[in-house]
Amino acid sequence: MAYQPDVLKCYALALDPIHVGTGGMRLGRVDLSIVREPGTNIPKIPGTSLAGAARAYAAMQVNGKFPGCAGQGGHCGLHDCSICVTFGFAKGSGASFQGLAQFSDARLIFFPVHSLAGPVWITCPRVLEELSVTTTEPADNQVHVASGVQQSGKLNLGWLMLDVAGNAFSVDGKLSAIPDDIKNRAVLVSNKMFGHIVNDNLEVRTSVSIDPRTGAAAEGALFTYEALPRACVLYFDAVISDPKFYRIARTVEKNGKKETESVIPLSDAEHPEGDIDKVKSTVNNGLKLFETLGVGGMNTRGMGRLRVLNLNAGGTP
Ligand SMILES: [Zn+2]
Repeated sequence: MAYQPDVLKCYALALDPIHVGTGGMRLGRVDLSIVREPGTNIPKIPGTSLAGAARAYAAMQVNGKFPGCAGQGGHCGLHDCSICVTFGFAKGSGASFQGLAQFSDARLIFFPVHSLAGPVWITCPRVLEELSVTTTEPADNQVHVASGVQQSGKLNLGWLMLDVAGNAFSVDGKLSAIPDDIKNRAVLVSNKMFGHIVNDNLEVRTSVSIDPRTGAAAEGALFTYEALPRACVLYFDAVISDPKFYRIARTVEKNGKKETESVIPLSDAEHPEGDIDKVKSTVNNGLKLFETLGVGGMNTRGMGRLRVLNLNAGGTP
């Protein structure tokens, strides 16, 4: 049978607005824009941002690994370092390892929008299909609504008024990690409209830069930035590879001579083939702290907290 790596499927709820910036100023609607999916233009959180935050938070929980193994440099690169093995390392000598955990981008699956019926969460067939939930796509001027959405034939999503089509829509019994309060107030829109409605309903905030020398607002420093709103639901996965298929070089002393040998990551007497559970628990330890320490930028402005919904007591999604 072909080798199948383990996939941790993670569902996450934004507890704050989340800003993962493109790292540059853009002329246009806002000064600081967020990262988007090319093609659909739908905002996302890049896997590299998730991996970077998970790495730093996991390293904080292991003695002696913070800050060295936490960031982008200064990695120990030891075969038994759970941080370097899980998230990869690069050492000055040219030795590098890509890491046994690989994070996908986090994609929006339910996005909150105000309506006269109260808050609702939009989604679309393309998004749900990736999660193995099949639905019928409504026309662009129509929506299908879940049972908890009170309406009388029409529903506004922000400024946009759409017709409610007869088809009921339900994800009952599926996507069990996602709260029923959200699933019961879900609204299915067409694939095309999903991107438009998301982009029309992002948070846009205005802030000022503070001049560190005077503590006052810097002149001309008013800027706007966009963010994914609080209460949006995202999905990402972390692919965990089996250590036994990998090797990391280490230097040992044999008969007074230094020699380099290749060893299985996270292997020891108890785990001669490497300890894949240690990789999973390291990922889990990092994800757990998303909820308090956040992802993305502007964490000091009350942004970025993200709760991974299906971290179970045992640790892994
Ligand atoms: Zn390390």
